Amino acid sequence: MFIFVFFVAFVPFVVAQNEATDAQLEASSAGRVVRVGPAAGAGGPVAAIPLELYVARVLAGEGEPNAADAARQALAVAIRTFALANAGRHAREGFDLCDGTHCQVPRAATAVTRRAALATAGRILTYEGSPAELFYSASCGGYSERAADVWPGVDYPYLPAAPDDVHEADPPWTLVLTREQVEQALGRAGFDGRLRDVRVEARTASGRAARVRVSGLVPGVMTGDAFRAAIGTTTLRSTAFSVEIEGRSVRFTGRGYGHGVGMCVIGAGRRAARGERMEAILGQYYPGLVLSALDRVEARGGPAAPARGGLVRVPSASGVAAGEVEQLTLRAHADLSVVLGVSIAPITVRIHESIEGFRAATGRPWWVSEVAEGTSIDLAPMALLAQRDGLDLTLRTAVADLLLSQPLRGRPAWIRVGAARFFGLGPARAGTAAAAPRCPSDAELALAISAAAQREAEARAEACFARAYARTGDWRTIR
Ligand SMILES: [Zn+2]
Ligand SMILES: [Zn+2]
Repeated sequence: MFIFVFFVAFVPFVVAQNEATDAQLEASSAGRVVRVGPAAGAGGPVAAIPLELYVARVLAGEGEPNAADAARQALAVAIRTFALANAGRHAREGFDLCDGTHCQVPRAATAVTRRAALATAGRILTYEGSPAELFYSASCGGYSERAADVWPGVDYPYLPAAPDDVHEADPPWTLVLTREQVEQALGRAGFDGRLRDVRVEARTASGRAARVRVSGLVPGVMTGDAFRAAIGTTTLRSTAFSVEIEGRSVRFTGRGYGHGVGMCVIGAGRRAARGERMEAILGQYYPGLVLSALDRVEARGGPAAPARGGLVRVPSASGVAAGEVEQLTLRAHADLSVVLGVSIAPITVRIHESIEGFRAATGRPWWVSEVAEGTSIDLAPMALLAQRDGLDLTLRTAVADLLLSQPLRGRPAWIRVGAARFFGLGPARAGTAAAAPRCPSDAELALAISAAAQREAEARAEACFARAYARTGDWRTIR
């Protein structure tokens, strides 16, 4: 009874004094919501969360629990900026951002995360007047990473490789795996063969592994980031490692946790603890960005609301009309559905305005021209398509890719890639069929380390398919 009375009498007072409520956060969101969906993709529940409540929740998921206010406020600004800059990221699945590490991870908001969201409500970082495309990670380990060294083509002056002088006392981490464990992990990522040696072949300006040589496997070289993803991003904490083979063991020694691009959450906490303010922390990790009020950014016309509804989305500056893209798609589908005996309708086509938008929506680098999944096609920006096979042929390849995706599920990737190019670009063009190249491994197609390597692997997949198809005459039986 006493406890009950105490509760009723005391808690409202505490709330009024210290704690921002969900209602306050909703009011300060001014009608802006973030539609959050499941990391697994389409089909799960989607929640429309007021922007500032979303910031408070992600701060609980991504922040350091005991950080000082200035660090928490700086991260709140980064989280809000990320949410606005990436609002169209999962548009084809029907929401803005997912609840996994691909986007930002929300948890139940706490008193301190609500307070930091409210204290910074409506404030974002802008680059050339728009919400900045930015990143943050747990710990840079002493030197941040340049964005373009993790995501080719994503290059901004405010995401450089730069020292962070608050990590001097951090001990390095070590990870010991068996050679078989490394080989199995790479096998799951599509690499063929027996692992003989692992070596860091090149490093980025920050000292992270840029290229890793995996002798004995095909392909024999991969980016440091793809290597870390294959091993597991929580197992191999960063690409800032060195590696030694000792008998049957593979020993990694490294620094930091995460990709290391942009704000360092641990470093921000240390800076706040030694008295730096939010503005100084943001200036350290995002040099050159401007702290702006969201309503002023919107009043100037940005950020652009993602278009919704139509089956074809084309950027206005691309020099091609949505109607034209729709006609090309319908014609490609009409031809290819007869040839392949498969049809899909309706198909959604999106030509991306920027390399970054294409990468964010598909997870593939700029040297991939099209990604076809479910009923959706994502195309690289027009300027890139023009340098490669052109819009019409790329679209035909993408439609073939889409039609083949279900019937060829679970087969080696070269069959689907090769068949999509063979039927999309036209069999008459495939003069390479006489050659007998080695068919590319899944990893050669999915994890190519350069545009040239991607083109070479795709051409080989096409020649390989053409050869098998000439033999069997039935693409469905090729294995
Ligand atoms: Zn996501
Ligand atoms: Zn750091």
